[in-house]
Amino acid sequence: MTRIAVLGSTNMDLVAYVATAPRRGETVTGHEFRTIPGGKGANQAVAAARAGADVALIGAVGTDEFGTRLRAALDGSGVDTDLVRTTEGPSGTAHIVVDAAGGNAIVVIPGANASVTHLGPGDEALIAGAESLLLQLELPMDTVVEGARAARRHGVRTVLTPSPVQPLPPELLAATDLLVANEHEATSLTGLDDAKAAARALLELVPEVVVTLGSRGSLYAARGQDPVAVPAPEVTAVDTTGAGDTFVGALAVALGEGRAMPEALAWASQAAALSVQRPGAVAAMPYRKEIDEASA
Ligand code: ATP
Repeated sequence: MTRIAVLGSTNMDLVAYVATAPRRGETVTGHEFRTIPGGKGANQAVAAARAGADVALIGAVGTDEFGTRLRAALDGSGVDTDLVRTTEGPSGTAHIVVDAAGGNAIVVIPGANASVTHLGPGDEALIAGAESLLLQLELPMDTVVEGARAARRHGVRTVLTPSPVQPLPPELLAATDLLVANEHEATSLTGLDDAKAAARALLELVPEVVVTLGSRGSLYAARGQDPVAVPAPEVTAVDTTGAGDTFVGALAVALGEGRAMPEALAWASQAAALSVQRPGAVAAMPYRKEIDEASA
C-alpha cells in the first residue's frame, strides 16, 4: 500500500438549507440543518484512504464535542489520527448556507486549525516515511511551508491545493512538486482568464501543474511540453462538493503506486466523476473497487 501524509484542516461543516439566502439584516427560515465532518485536509485524507492508500493526517481538533466527532469520523474512514492533536478550545467550523439553486455562502472559523503553528514531534518522521505529502491552505501558512520543506528534505512528493486561494510564498513554491488548482484558483493566482495560459504561467513557479475544469475535465502541464487536456467522464452530476479533493486524493494514490501521469489522471478523473453523482463531500467519495470498476 502506498503511504500518504496529509498536513491539513479538519472542520465541522454546519450547513443550513434555505430557499433563498438572507441578505444583510434579514432573517429567513430554513428547512434543514446538518453537521457534516469536513475541512480540505480531512477530505483529501479520506479520499486517499478510500482510494486504497495507508493515510495519516497531521492537524488538530478542539476539545469541544465537534472535536470528538471529527476524530471518530476520520478513524472510521481508516485515516490514522495519531498525529492529530487535541487543542484546548473549539474545533474548526465552516458555517454554510445552501440555497435552493445549490449556491452557497461560507464562513470558515479556523478554531483548532489555527493552533497548528509548527510541526510537532513525530510529524517529520511520518512525512519522511510517506510517498507523498498533500497540502492545502487551511492551516497557518508557516506550517504549510515547514511541512513542504520537510517533505523536500526527505525526497517526498509534495502536492499542493492552493485553497483558499491566496498569494503563495516563494519558499512554498520552491518545495512544491505538483500544484493542483481549480480554474478559479489558477486564474486568480496568475491574473489570466484562460486556463491554458494560467497553467503555462504556473509552470514558471512549479514543475508540474493540473488545472481542474469541473465537467470539462482537467489540463495537465509539465515543463517542456504543451498542456494536455484530460477529459472528464460524462455523468449526471447531483452534487460536485468535494470533487476536487476526491481528484487530488485519488491522483496521489495512483502516482504513489508508480503509475505514469496520464494513467493516474484518468483514474483520478473516474474517482471524481463517481463522487459528483452522489450527494455530500466525504459521503460521496468512492472506494478503490468502484474506481477500478469504472476505469475498466
Ligand atoms: P470542489 O470545490 O467542488 O471540490 P473544485 O472546484 O476543486 O471542486 P472541479 O474542477 O470542479 O474542482 O472538479 C475537480 C474534478 O472533478 C474535475 O477535473 C473533473 O475531473 C471532476 N468533475 C467535476 N465536476 C464534474 C462533472 N460534472 N462531471 C464529471 N466530472 C466532474
